[in-house]
Amino acid sequence: MSSTNSLNNPLMGLAELASLLKARHVIFSSNEGFTSIAIDSRKVNPGTLFFALDGTTCDGHSFVSSAFKAGAVAAVVDSSKIESFNLENLAKEMGKDLITVDNTMKALQDSAKFYLNKFPRLRKIGITGSSGKTTTKEITAAIIEIEKNVIKNEGNLNSETGLPLSVFNVRAEHEVGVFELGMNRPDEISEITDALKPNIALITNIGSAHIEYFGSKEKIVNEKKCIYKFLNNDDIALVPENDEFAKELADGVNGKIKYYSANNFKEFGGARSLGIEGTEILWNGEKINFALPGKHNLDDAMAAIAIAKEIPVSDKAIKLGLESVKPLFGRLEILKGRVTVIRDCYNANPESTAKSIEFCDSIEWPGRKIYVIADMLELGVMSDSEHKKIGFLLSVSAAKKIFLFGEKIEKAARNLRDNDKPYFYTNDINELSAALDSFIKQGDLVLLKGSRGCALERLTDMLIAREVNSAL
Ligand code: ADP
Repeated sequence: MSSTNSLNNPLMGLAELASLLKARHVIFSSNEGFTSIAIDSRKVNPGTLFFALDGTTCDGHSFVSSAFKAGAVAAVVDSSKIESFNLENLAKEMGKDLITVDNTMKALQDSAKFYLNKFPRLRKIGITGSSGKTTTKEITAAIIEIEKNVIKNEGNLNSETGLPLSVFNVRAEHEVGVFELGMNRPDEISEITDALKPNIALITNIGSAHIEYFGSKEKIVNEKKCIYKFLNNDDIALVPENDEFAKELADGVNGKIKYYSANNFKEFGGARSLGIEGTEILWNGEKINFALPGKHNLDDAMAAIAIAKEIPVSDKAIKLGLESVKPLFGRLEILKGRVTVIRDCYNANPESTAKSIEFCDSIEWPGRKIYVIADMLELGVMSDSEHKKIGFLLSVSAAKKIFLFGEKIEKAARNLRDNDKPYFYTNDINELSAALDSFIKQGDLVLLKGSRGCALERLTDMLIAREVNSAL
């Protein structure tokens, strides 16, 4: 997974890691160290240390042999599985090492922690929140890398496994590490924060994303604020000033608490929406052309600036960094063809869906606005009521017609019916595509918003690449 080092220049010694993990080191190879790590045997290179994790769909211990064949020098395995998977014989036959532990997931996270200890001068930034983690991380990195050597997690590799895998990409030349931390289960933020030990920690906002697993927003607050848990007194906790839970987030936090928001920066002179072309930000008297549209992307930019100022960087870096940011896949991406598509379907939760609708309503557009809205997943018992609320927003929105897609979003239909808002509902992507195909015409603006599982980007080619029926 991580980029490879030369075999003569290992990331860490095998014996060194085994000792730090207080693990048993079974030696059958002459290899002293490893040059990358992997949890997926298909991503193993010569020199890799393979971590066998017990996943929900399969057990990584069945892939130790494939990992060894692909060049792994050693595997970190669960000591209770050595016999059942015949691992000691396998390692002996293939001339590989085993590091045996009680819990391979914990070992992966601890290994990341021990690895990071080798870089005491690296400034480590941790970003979490319900929405905007990846966007804020990308903007932060774009600004700081104007003046410093930056490492960041690729894409959204921000989970219990993604964060440790990303950490192993840190090298001696890096000055600042920008990492996003996500959560799909209780304690995940705490565990990966323990591995990262950020010096600067920021929360973007608190919403209802993944509430299915947590039960309430208060529990989400307590989970998210674990990103501040390991701060020392000189470290910085950046708290979103305008979040409804700002006070709770800051309560009992070690480190210097700083509330951030646009209005808290003396350099911020206002922002002007350029519609789908982005936002013009006035910073210290200079105009900055920021290509990401919408108020929430401006919030993410302010979060990124709050972090960058702690490094610190110059105003010039803030300008150049913000101007270099390009839209990310599925986050208010603008695709221009015969119709203009606002592709915001990387993911969806109640807050981000409301923000998308708000943004599309707010922009001036000469043609028709059409909103394609799919399910918001993982909302648990709040699912029906949150989809109904979206139904209300849509019923008073600027859309000419709404297309609803999925099982859960059907709950939004009633509001549309009651308010005589034209809509089409289906749970079949082909039916959705055909209905849209026959409705759209040149000059329309089409919003695509829905959870990852709904993959609304499947409509892009039909909307953009093909000639549309302009006679309608
Ligand atoms: P995350 O990494 O937290 O999932 P992303 O940056 O990938 O967040 O953005 C996912 C979606 O969340 C985007 O499509 C966008 O609509 C929305 N979003 C981004 N930033 C914010 C924000 N500050 N507040 C609300 N929604 C946001």
